[in-house]
Amino acid sequence: MDKGTYGRRDRLVKEKRHDPYMEREKWPDPTLCTECGALFTGGRWTWQRPPEKVNRALCPACQRTRDRLPAGTIELSGDFLQDQRDEIMNLIKNQEKMEKTERPVERIMEIKEENGKLTILTTGIHVARRIGEAIFRAYQGEFDFSYGDGEKTIQVRWHRD
Ligand SMILES: [Zn+2]
Repeated sequence: MDKGTYGRRDRLVKEKRHDPYMEREKWPDPTLCTECGALFTGGRWTWQRPPEKVNRALCPACQRTRDRLPAGTIELSGDFLQDQRDEIMNLIKNQEKMEKTERPVERIMEIKEENGKLTILTTGIHVARRIGEAIFRAYQGEFDFSYGDGEKTIQVRWHRD
């Protein structure tokens, strides 16, 4: 095999690895999520009422939750978190609610609390960034985020002493 063929093979492998949770071709229009009731139509997941005849499948958010494979991870830490825990938790839930209304597949998967740290796992990258930014806007502190895996995953960190 010459060099050119190798190069092409690499590319093909990369394309195949393109976010398996968001492959639009996978769902006929309309497709209803059997778990959460989200409806895929017009190229996106919505909360529209499903028609009578509808294809059925799992939406990417429910699939990720089932696979326990989050797209976003938010880590919150610091003494301030302990003092304002309930308030911060409310803000997180509100942000999720707003995001989920617009984008059904952007949700919180799990919230873990350990040694004074909060770890929030999300099904999408947008909701994770939104929550991080909202906390930073409300409470300042140290905030940063980084994308991984070709922007299919995001790691968000926030800390305030
Ligand atoms: Zn679903």
